[in-house]
Amino acid sequence: MSKPKIVILGAGYAGMMTTKRLTQKLSPEEAEIVLVNKHNYHYQTTWLHEVAAGTINHNQARTIISDVINPNRVRLIYDTVVKVDKDNQTVILENSELTYDYLVISLGFVTNTFGIKGMDEHAMFIQDIDSAQLIREHIEYQFVKYKNSEEKNTDDLTILVGGAGFTGIEFVGELAEKVPQLCKKYDIERRNVRVINVEAAPSILPMFDKDLVDYAIHSLEQRGIEFRLGTKINECTEEGFIVGEDNELIKAGTIVWTGGVTGSPVLAESGFEITRGKVTVDGDLRAPGEENIFVIGDCAWVMDEKTGRPFPPTAQAAMQHAETCANNVVALLKNAPLENFVFDNKGTVASLGVTDGIATILDGTKLSGKPAATMKKVVDNRALFLIGGLNMFLKKGKIRPF
Ligand code: FAD
Repeated sequence: MSKPKIVILGAGYAGMMTTKRLTQKLSPEEAEIVLVNKHNYHYQTTWLHEVAAGTINHNQARTIISDVINPNRVRLIYDTVVKVDKDNQTVILENSELTYDYLVISLGFVTNTFGIKGMDEHAMFIQDIDSAQLIREHIEYQFVKYKNSEEKNTDDLTILVGGAGFTGIEFVGELAEKVPQLCKKYDIERRNVRVINVEAAPSILPMFDKDLVDYAIHSLEQRGIEFRLGTKINECTEEGFIVGEDNELIKAGTIVWTGGVTGSPVLAESGFEITRGKVTVDGDLRAPGEENIFVIGDCAWVMDEKTGRPFPPTAQAAMQHAETCANNVVALLKNAPLENFVFDNKGTVASLGVTDGIATILDGTKLSGKPAATMKKVVDNRALFLIGGLNMFLKKGKIRPF
């Protein structure tokens, strides 16, 4: 009899952890494991704002998958998933097809522009390594262009960032560090460069208490970040954002949208029932009505029964989904009962540049400044360690002191 085939789609936090746990829980005789990913590398999605600002090199944020997952144990396929044909238990890839007995969908997020006119065409997104690198290069190009142009236009040096959630604020935090370095490199006065964060809501980082939010705004403003809060973006053009009731145009040379994400489009393409871009999974993380398909990480809404609302999509949650998912795949193989996902919230940390941050940890303790920045590095390094062990931590970890 042939071995059951477990196929995992996406090698992000959720996919890598599921694969790793399955290789630990099952012998090669018990199941064939296949991991499919667009690239031959895994990247730390939570570090992409640093790649985009240029405060870390893109190679630090990515790891060759076969350095972490043994290709003799797991079949690695580097291809793009187009859709899942549930009726025929087949995954359609750009270059081939693949059957499965058990499927784990962990394809992460794509940026959502909520239909804001012109945003898809004119803004850049922090979405993967390539898009983050493009932003870094574009910003540096604007500095070079300004330096070498005869008619200096300071609008070229303005960086507009739409959205004041995690990604937008962590990105402007990195820019607060990077912009002075670029000014020095190209001999440009700091006051000629503007970094403007535009947000429709009246405040930033809604997941933090007001005192920490106030700290973050003050710290970033001190380092030259401008905020336009309570300001709706009506349209994005080649020149910048058109905002507010009087349709003011804020001109910029670099436009980045960080205002929203949604689940992989593969979900809708494959006929899953979708709520705001994601599948609302059952307690055991299976897609409703599907015996053998799990949906985890940023592709899933996992409901918090206490609040009746979904848990926020985070790397922390994605890695915890992976533990439950791996246990449940093994349970299905062994005809054992499945377990329900229980979220163990270890806290929330946002960086505000390399040496600053805010955090709410475990028992509600609040941190700001260097202790929070240190906490962020601990969280980042822990994720590396969990996914790639000591080797990955030593190669890619954030171990330099401030
Ligand atoms: P991902 O880690 O995004 O992995 C998805 C994988 O699927 C990728 O390898 C991708 O290449 C692959 N893939 C996608 N589509 C296809 C396809 N069609 N075919 C093949 N492969 C495909 N969370 C926190 O907990 N703390 C933070 O501080 C934090 N900061 C963040 C900062 C930024 C800049 C961003 C963007 C996110 C941040 N998040 C943070 C959120 C966190 O990164 C996500 O919740 C987490 O990455 C979700 O993990 P995942 O495995 O579902 O998806």
